[in-house]
Amino acid sequence: MELEGEEEELKKFISDVPEKAPKLALIEKIECEYGLPIKGFDDFEIKSSKREDERNTLISPDICICDDCLKEMLDPSDRRYGYPFINCTNCGPRFTIIKDVPYDRAKTSMSDFSMCEACDREYHDIEDRRYHAQPDACQTCGPHVYTVPESGNPIETARTWLKEGKIVCVKGLGGMHLACDISLAGELRKRKQRDEKPFAVMCRNTGIVRQYCELSKAEEKILTDYHRPIVLLKKKTELKGVTNNGYLGVMLPYTPLHYLLFGDDIDILIMTSANLSDTPIMYKNDEALEKLEGIADGFLLHNRDIQTRCDDSLCWVNEGHEYFARRSRGYVPFPIKVPVDKELLGCGAEQKASFALSKDNYVFLSQHIGDLKNMETYEHYEKQIEHFKRLFDITPTAAACDLHPDYLSTAYAKALDIPVYEIQHHHAHMASCMADNNLDGKVTGLIWDGTGLGTDGTIWGAECLSGGYEGFERISHIREIPLIGGDAVTRDLDRIAYALLEKSGNEVYDKMLASNLNCPGASSMGRLFDGAAAICGILHKASYEGQGAVLLEAAAKENVEDSYTVEFDGSGIFDWRTMINELSEDKNPARFMNTLIKMAAAQCEMAGNEKVVLSGGTFQNQYLLRKLPEVLKKKGFDVYTHKRVSCNDEGIGLGQICVLRYLLK
Ligand code: ZN
Ligand code: ZN
Ligand code: FE
Repeated sequence: MELEGEEEELKKFISDVPEKAPKLALIEKIECEYGLPIKGFDDFEIKSSKREDERNTLISPDICICDDCLKEMLDPSDRRYGYPFINCTNCGPRFTIIKDVPYDRAKTSMSDFSMCEACDREYHDIEDRRYHAQPDACQTCGPHVYTVPESGNPIETARTWLKEGKIVCVKGLGGMHLACDISLAGELRKRKQRDEKPFAVMCRNTGIVRQYCELSKAEEKILTDYHRPIVLLKKKTELKGVTNNGYLGVMLPYTPLHYLLFGDDIDILIMTSANLSDTPIMYKNDEALEKLEGIADGFLLHNRDIQTRCDDSLCWVNEGHEYFARRSRGYVPFPIKVPVDKELLGCGAEQKASFALSKDNYVFLSQHIGDLKNMETYEHYEKQIEHFKRLFDITPTAAACDLHPDYLSTAYAKALDIPVYEIQHHHAHMASCMADNNLDGKVTGLIWDGTGLGTDGTIWGAECLSGGYEGFERISHIREIPLIGGDAVTRDLDRIAYALLEKSGNEVYDKMLASNLNCPGASSMGRLFDGAAAICGILHKASYEGQGAVLLEAAAKENVEDSYTVEFDGSGIFDWRTMINELSEDKNPARFMNTLIKMAAAQCEMAGNEKVVLSGGTFQNQYLLRKLPEVLKKKGFDVYTHKRVSCNDEGIGLGQICVLRYLLK
């Protein structure tokens, strides 16, 4: 902007910009320069922007329905009364309906619908809220909903089904949900053949949320924000079959259709992604009708196609911002500002796959992809990389992948015809948390997760690293845990307990341990938690990754301050044997975690850096996330946790790119 006026007026104007900006505006930086030559402006004029390269336009994530549209939808005198696809410039689908760039109607799912006269008038009126709103539509010209089986008014039919205790497939923004009353959790689990993983719920409003969960001011802000993630809240009541840990994943309605579905008499529904074991979320009508037969009793679908599948985002609220377990719908494809000017690709890991692409000091992280070992998920991964490259006009000149040769993302990278660099898993985690916090230089990285290949060929996962983007040193870790039968231990936690307690008596196990056959050692925090959960009698057979840790956290009392014995061997490796013996007598999860916190503090002193970053999937543990920084700060360390990307493997692409940038220098 070039402005003329008294200095005071100008300053007032400038301070108004961030305060009065539209809700979706994002201001990265305001820079001012005073004393330009006076041109004698007499009005305020908006000039058209220079668009040499249309592809440099950022693409908005999907935005929940805005207050104005909600008001219109509920107003019987409005022409869009009860219309489930109402939207405007401030709200509506974006990323999930875009086929190509530049973002205009012809290149979205809305190309099938031509605007009626009334909509067209709004679209071209600069004073109108729908000026240039690409997905704009009304009942006359836009998409419509229908049920299968058909039976009168679709929304009323679906509402009746839900109230009668039926399981209904509901088409959302980025894919299909299975919706039902919370009393049907067991039935849904049976039909879906789903493990014990918790279900998320959708509540009509925050009043209902408060009946089931504790809700702080900060959590309410994130819950009601336009991103509409699933927020993990401390539950107040037992919700049998829905969740058996301490948290309930809650979201509020985000599409107009959701609001119509809840009406004013449905309070809470299970809303879980419609997918079959480890396959990506379903997003096509035909596919849902075919594959969900026998699972859903009815379908509430519509004829606006989803172009790109995108799961709901999932987060806790930490220090007033999102702390992601999954950064996806509502956030993706908004980039993270990081000083990387080269066009690079970070291929991510495997089980929680995602990728990252960089350009012009932005890193674009993909939505949640899933486990690449599933064929359909792998195809989705490949397609999304191509889609992102096209959307943001990025042609990577080099790629980074994990050091693990068996990861399918590594194989993908190596098949590309550009230089590929392998980045050690925990180094990438550390770099990701550094970039997330705009750090540079040397830090200590406490990187705790399930598994990652180390530079020495063994499995790492409870690491204290010292270094930066350019490289690292392994300062300390935990004594290796022999994994009896390798990967089998992630389901059978008693095997880990057996190894941790250094038991003997099971002939098969003893033979394996003695001969080291199919018994790799792992310095893994995830496995240490699994073993501890088994030793405490909390969980013996895990049905999903991380279940032991989640239940152990749920069982921990808040006001326990003491711990077990912290012991390091001569080379600075944490020897858990004394701790495990004490745990097996006392069975106190809080003391167990306090011991690890003490261990971490000692390791940070060994490393000697002022700054400490915490990354890796174990830091989804909110007990550790709260308490460890407290303890470290008291000892004078500056502690940094994730803010913009997930702490788990989903955030690794960012770290890979940041390390790659240094390797290329
Ligand atoms: Zn709106
Ligand atoms: Zn219309
Ligand atoms: Fe990891």
